[in-house]
Amino acid sequence: MKQCYLCGEKLIKNTNKTKDHVPPDCIFPQDKPPNLITVPCCKRCNEKYEQIDERMRNYFAILAGDRSVRVGQIARREVLRSRKWREIFLSFTKEHPTLVDNGGNPRLIFYFDDNELNPWLIRIVKGLYYKLYQTIIGDTAIFKVEKYPQYIPQPSATYQMEKGLEFRPYFVYGVLKELNNDFWVLIFYDHLMFSVSVDKSVK
Ligand SMILES: [Zn+2]
Repeated sequence: MKQCYLCGEKLIKNTNKTKDHVPPDCIFPQDKPPNLITVPCCKRCNEKYEQIDERMRNYFAILAGDRSVRVGQIARREVLRSRKWREIFLSFTKEHPTLVDNGGNPRLIFYFDDNELNPWLIRIVKGLYYKLYQTIIGDTAIFKVEKYPQYIPQPSATYQMEKGLEFRPYFVYGVLKELNNDFWVLIFYDHLMFSVSVDKSVK
C-alpha cells in the first residue's frame, strides 16, 4: 500500500490519497513540461504547503528572472505584475543594495527565512527520494541545508537533458549516494543552488 512521502500515513483511495508535485508545479511556466514528477501524499500534508510554494517561487523568480528569458517570463507574469510583490521586491533592493554581486549573480544570504526555506527544500528531497527508492526517509534522519550564493551556472547548451536535468532551466537535481549519507543538489532557475545532506546513520 502506498504511503504519504512526508508523514508516512497509509493512503486509501477516495479518502486521504492525493499526489504532490516534486518540485511544486508552480515552479514551472504555464505550459508545463508533460513529465513532471509526482509522489503519493496525504491530504493534510498536501494542503499545508500551498502558500509557501508560491512564495518560494516568487523569491526564486525575482532573484533569477533577469538572467534567463524563460524564467524572466515567470517573474514578470507572476511577480512583478502584482503591485504587492513589486513593492516587496523594491523595498528589498533598497534595503539590500548587495542583492546581486559584481558579476550580477544573486546573493541568497539575506533573502530567505531559513525556518521556511529549509523545510521546503527538505520536502523536495523527500519527494525525490520516494520517487527513486519507493520508500520514505526515516524520522531519525538529520538534514543539513546549504546555500551557494556564488554559484555561476554553465551555459544551457552544454547540458544534455539527462536524468536530473530534464526540467532545466526551471529545476535541476542530482544525488551523490553513500552508505548512510546522501548529498542532494537542487538548482532552481539555473541560478539558485542549494544542497541538502541527509544523514541516515542515526538510529
Ligand atoms: Zn502526510
